[in-house]
Amino acid sequence: MPKILLTLRQFPKHDDLMTITKSISEEKVAAVKKMIEASRRIVITCHKTPDGDALGSSLALAAVLAGDRKYVHVVTPDTPPKILKFLPGADHIVIASRFHERAKHLLDTADLVFCLDYNAPMRVDRLEPLLMESPAPRIMIDHHLDPADFTDIAISSPEESSTCALLYRLLYQMGWAGKIHADAATCIYTGMLTDTGNFSYNSNNPDLYLIIARLLTTGINKDEIYNTVWNTNSVNRLRICGYSIYRKMHLFPEYSLSLICLNRGELNEFDYVKGDTEGLVNKPLSIPGIVWSVYMREDNKEYIKVSMRSIGNFPVNTICEKLYGGGGHLNAAGGEFHGTMREAAEKLFLMLPEIKAYLEKSANE
Ligand code: 5GP
Ligand code: MN
Repeated sequence: MPKILLTLRQFPKHDDLMTITKSISEEKVAAVKKMIEASRRIVITCHKTPDGDALGSSLALAAVLAGDRKYVHVVTPDTPPKILKFLPGADHIVIASRFHERAKHLLDTADLVFCLDYNAPMRVDRLEPLLMESPAPRIMIDHHLDPADFTDIAISSPEESSTCALLYRLLYQMGWAGKIHADAATCIYTGMLTDTGNFSYNSNNPDLYLIIARLLTTGINKDEIYNTVWNTNSVNRLRICGYSIYRKMHLFPEYSLSLICLNRGELNEFDYVKGDTEGLVNKPLSIPGIVWSVYMREDNKEYIKVSMRSIGNFPVNTICEKLYGGGGHLNAAGGEFHGTMREAAEKLFLMLPEIKAYLEKSANE
């Protein structure tokens, strides 16, 4: 039987429920505030292939700081997916893969750089040298495990479901919650929504709903955000997801595994554009008995993007790290493989016996 009832033991008692927990150390909060106050030119960076949380947190922080009369820019390593264009401020992003010199100039002349939703410099891909050569101090706000030591202040909280929720906490603790107006609130809500699958996983912390209640008071339209982000499909997107599940989803019940591989030819057939298969990897997890789901996409002949999702305590981040030099969260992780699809899949198959032993062990615990 699935566990439906949760104890709230680890969360505040009912009487304290209206108070958002101040989980970030007061010293760090004060240090961030001081650094912001001492800076005028601020650059906000996030990980490559930005998702709702990466872009949402970056644009939210930019909106708050711009309201504080700072000269702020969001610099992304590459082009964000079209679906996130509705985020307020998205039109002003500097995309480093397209405007390298501009990105370099901004980082070279910055007084302060924020690193949002990533835990290591390699996550910004070709932006890495620009980030590391910038003379400005760096502040990390992130919720991935094992943060690398490359920032002056690290607000790293792996138990947080999204960087956006963590950013809200930080602003709240700084006494700046009142500076979050509808634009920033829309961005924060979007990241909270996308990193929890519309509050269907990592979403049992009551604080999340206190944050949402406060965001709603700024006038955001949460129903419209849901429809824009989660319930808008192009014809090609619907067709490619249908095809993938009908034709390409292979189940390996003895390993509690689902595997979907899409090669270049298939992507071309459906005129694939970035973001078209967002969420596909989660679908097989709805099948009872499937504990982890793998999706491999042949972005080009030499490069396979791997995404993994799991339920329970099955650690797909460890598997992504071991097999594909990637990482992420316990239940949502990714990696990259430089080689052919066949080689990427073979690497996974070779590890299955070891994984089976792990699955059996955890089932008996
Ligand atoms: P997605 O499968 O949606 O691309 O990514 C899921 C999660 O895994 C995200 O939290 C993302 O940060 C992480 N992730 C995805 N790809 C990589 C990667 O190549 N390297 C690392 N370290 N993390 C990744
Ligand atoms: Mn995130």
